[in-house]
Amino acid sequence: MWRDRGRQGLADSTISVSPASGRRGAPVAGLDWQYAPAPESREIVSIAAEYGLFVDGEFTPAASGRTFATINPATEEPLAKVAQAAGADVDRAVAAARSAYQRVWGPMPGAERAKYLYRIARILQERSREFAVLESLDNGKPIKETRDVDIPLAAAHFFYYAGWADKLEYAGFGQAPRPLGVAGQVIPWNFPLLMAAWKLAPALAAGNTCVLKPAETTPLSALLLAEVCQQAELPPGVVNVLTGAGQTGAALVAHPGVDKVAFTGSTEVGVAIAQAVAGTGKKLTLELGGKAANVVFDDAPVDQAIEGIVNGIFFNQGHVCCAGSRLLVQESVAEQVVERLRRRLTTLRLGDPLDKNTDIGAINSRQQLDKITELSAAGEAEGAHRWSPPCELPSRGFWFAPTVFTGVSQSHRIAREEIFGPVLSVLTFRTPDEAVTKANNTAYGLSAGIWTEKGSRILWMAQRMRAGVVWANTYNRFDPASPFGGYKESGYGREGGRHGLAAYLDV
Ligand code: NDP
Repeated sequence: MWRDRGRQGLADSTISVSPASGRRGAPVAGLDWQYAPAPESREIVSIAAEYGLFVDGEFTPAASGRTFATINPATEEPLAKVAQAAGADVDRAVAAARSAYQRVWGPMPGAERAKYLYRIARILQERSREFAVLESLDNGKPIKETRDVDIPLAAAHFFYYAGWADKLEYAGFGQAPRPLGVAGQVIPWNFPLLMAAWKLAPALAAGNTCVLKPAETTPLSALLLAEVCQQAELPPGVVNVLTGAGQTGAALVAHPGVDKVAFTGSTEVGVAIAQAVAGTGKKLTLELGGKAANVVFDDAPVDQAIEGIVNGIFFNQGHVCCAGSRLLVQESVAEQVVERLRRRLTTLRLGDPLDKNTDIGAINSRQQLDKITELSAAGEAEGAHRWSPPCELPSRGFWFAPTVFTGVSQSHRIAREEIFGPVLSVLTFRTPDEAVTKANNTAYGLSAGIWTEKGSRILWMAQRMRAGVVWANTYNRFDPASPFGGYKESGYGREGGRHGLAAYLDV
């Protein structure tokens, strides 16, 4: 019988999680690894003191003249002031998008639209370092993730959908599929540029024009993308960016001039949006939360599974809708897996997001940190065992140590609610049937992971998991050609691939 070692584990180990910037690394098995600081220079990015809204091809102040500050979550330093859009600005942006749709973008041949998308993709590649640094500054995520994941994938989305723009009649949606018109798109803070690319690229390829509302805490990369649109000479009004808070998003989705709404974010706001557009005839896609099961069988390749578990929940500080936040381990190997996971976690480096050694960056906002803190406290209060590696947190900014809960039962809040932070809940199972039942015992249905040597078991499990994406012997792997989306409270509609075009066509 597997018995949890609770807080003890490797806490006395000589290995320690070290802040990435300039601190000593950890002695491992007699080796004294030292990581010299490797900070990426900020010089490549020039951040303006103040940013306007991007409407009809130009940056302009909000009609009210109001602004809000965006800060660096790793230091709490203000980065810039950003215009706060309200009703009059939404009217202006939707009118610009409508006019661009009718005059230029809608009638333009797909092969011509494709040229603009290819141009945007290439500029994103050319300016990738600038984008990576800016995204890390505004979001708090490690530079190695922005550099190697967010920005290349954003460019890949534009490349991929550029390829579809002149082939829509071969996409399987009839001979002459038509665009919908003006798309209102509201995105979250966890992958700011990538979510903008997921929304804009298919919409533009299909011939729609867009009004994009980035999250309040991460507006800067969307504004830099607006600059890229200018650089690519995209016709004015085809892409508009409205910065602001939740009310700006609410005004956009409720605007009568919007034909299609696309939202990624919390289930709570997704439900409010679904209610707001019900009966209006607007087409809607919702990509909402998740509480994915990452299922490890006793025949799994353990070293690879450990990396998959770490990538599943600690990538992007766990601010990932498809994060593998529930680890389901077969009971016979649970002790071994948890032990090795703890050992691995002691080698993760938490600290300066701009340091190229950093594995775990800052939590995106104080509000999110409070939520993670509250849910983790609830986990302890409900009787689960909490463990974190020895971990020195920077004194300023928003930080949370990687955390593993064992002794978790299905009724615990940490097993049911989306924490959206670097917190893993470990549960066990004995049979494949039990694994399926526990994996599906959630209100969500976005993603799942399976770790086993047996291909037949992968197929058996994948058929039974109620999840939009099932990864086998890997996790958090994304490709623009692959559809992504959920069941149940994880939302509806698909983004990515051929399926992602359907959301922006009158089919
Ligand atoms: P929200 O769902 O509130 O925010 C997502 C986007 O919607 C933001 O641009 C937000 O603007 C905007 N928005 C907020 N309220 C409305 C509204 N009524 N109508 C239209 N748009 C609106 O997520 P939060 O940032 O508040 O995070 C809360 C929780 O949601 C997190 O703790 C996490 O659990 C979950 N979440 C899940 C995500 C996912 O991908 N599954 C992504 C982000 C969060 P603004 O930023 O200005 O508030």
